[in-house]
Amino acid sequence: MAAPPTTLVLFARALRLDDHPALAEAAAKGPVLPLFLDGPETDLPQPDQVGRPWLGATLDLLDADLRARGSRLIRRRGVVADVLPPLLDGVGAVFLQRGLTPGARALEDALRAVCTPRGVAVEIFEGETLYPPEAVRTRQGGVFKVFTPFHRACDGGGPPPPPEPAPDRLAPPPAWPDDQPLDIADDGLDTAMWPPGEAGAMAQAEAFLDRALATYGDQRDVPASDIGASGLSVPLRFGTLGPRRLWHLADGRPGAAPFQRQLAWRDFAHHLLFHAPGLMDRPLRPEFARFPWLADTVPGAWTDGRTGFPVIDAGLRQLAATGWMHNRVRMIAASFLVKDLLVDWRAGAADFRRRLLDWDPANNTLGWQWVAGCGPDAAPYFRIFNPVLQSRKFDPHGAYIRAWVPELAGLADRHVHAPWEAPGGPPAGYPPPLVDRAVTRQRALDAFATLRDDA
Ligand SMILES: Cc1cc2nc3c(=O)[nH]c(=O)nc-3n(C[C@H](O)[C@H](O)[C@H](O)COP(=O)(O)OP(=O)(O)OC[C@H]3O[C@@H](n4cnc5c(N)ncnc54)[C@H](O)[C@@H]3O)c2cc1C
Repeated sequence: MAAPPTTLVLFARALRLDDHPALAEAAAKGPVLPLFLDGPETDLPQPDQVGRPWLGATLDLLDADLRARGSRLIRRRGVVADVLPPLLDGVGAVFLQRGLTPGARALEDALRAVCTPRGVAVEIFEGETLYPPEAVRTRQGGVFKVFTPFHRACDGGGPPPPPEPAPDRLAPPPAWPDDQPLDIADDGLDTAMWPPGEAGAMAQAEAFLDRALATYGDQRDVPASDIGASGLSVPLRFGTLGPRRLWHLADGRPGAAPFQRQLAWRDFAHHLLFHAPGLMDRPLRPEFARFPWLADTVPGAWTDGRTGFPVIDAGLRQLAATGWMHNRVRMIAASFLVKDLLVDWRAGAADFRRRLLDWDPANNTLGWQWVAGCGPDAAPYFRIFNPVLQSRKFDPHGAYIRAWVPELAGLADRHVHAPWEAPGGPPAGYPPPLVDRAVTRQRALDAFATLRDDA
């Protein structure tokens, strides 16, 4: 009897063995060739983005996990049209996890363009989100643009499918192609918070669930809290942990609901981008295409965390040091950029694309459009975050500020949020406020009013 053809499993996302239906199905069919594609057709870190050292470490661990099952990981850099053809001898099908981003869909098209003429099937499998985008529709069959009814519809459909365990063994292909190590330059990030690889992600998730899930609902907005946000956006972005596994791990524990609700926000963002792939460049609310932005690049004072507004500077310094920023601070820092400085939200989104370890095309797009007021279910444009009030509310003792802006560590609690009010002004080395917010706030409202006047 002829040997069954090999199935090539493409790892262009979902860098794990657990809850990976494409891999499980391939393992059940016969020999498997696991291929990691390092190239511009994936949403994983490219040479102009942070995260490549973390990616490299994760791939080594993925390779070790595959070897423990009789297999291995073949790494190749390039585009599908060049990388795939020499690997397709004896391959009957290419399986991969479906992605909902424009990049993921273009990758599937590129695969079909190479595989179909060669008689190789391309099959995509779920696992990227809790629910497939086709499963969550309005009663009329439309797309939800508001989160709450979207979430209600998710809940109404029952829990997401249970995750599948990793296959025990993977049959090797008749011959192993060469594995080419990745070209990786140091990105200078301190990523100690995120142990790489699948086992690291699971350890991080379990530690969060045991220690912080019960308090998550109350603490998730407190940037200095170590029983607040999970930091699991990094493993979710690289797919070292699947959202369905995470949802089910949390389910039934005290505090699960508000956390599962945030995971549903991730689905909301991904579904929206699937249904409206132009959203990465275009505002959902078309009138915002006419918004009179003053600039389309981010100023150095913002990227360097030297705006003179402590909570914003703390966030931007946390980002520069670790590749991650707390959600509440992302909102405050982004609002300052798009409203106080009138910088086009797309410039902020592009900056985050380069510098976030958890960069995710869908979540990032939704986040920036939400803050700019032009997105789905967005904060109204006229609601302009006041960085001092936000800081006093969510970081009352300035613990977060003191951790990231050491120049301000010696200030009293009442001045740490607004050091220009301290006797003698801001401490040496810390800048005065970049703008007068009374002026910039009014300027933002006037700019917004032009949209209505033109309507
Ligand atoms: C301007 C801006 C840009 C953003 N860019 C990104 C990005 O590139 N990548 C990214 O993953 N998130 C992004 N977010 C959303 C959010 O800030 C992060 O998901 C969150 O801070 C990650 O930290 P965490 O894992 O501790 O979150 P937790 O509070 O522990 O939440 C658990 C998970 O729920 C999901 N989630 C939580 N909040 C949101 C949200 N508002 N939208 C979508 N999913 C959410 C994430 O997958 C997150 O990991 C952005 C938000 C803003 C305002």
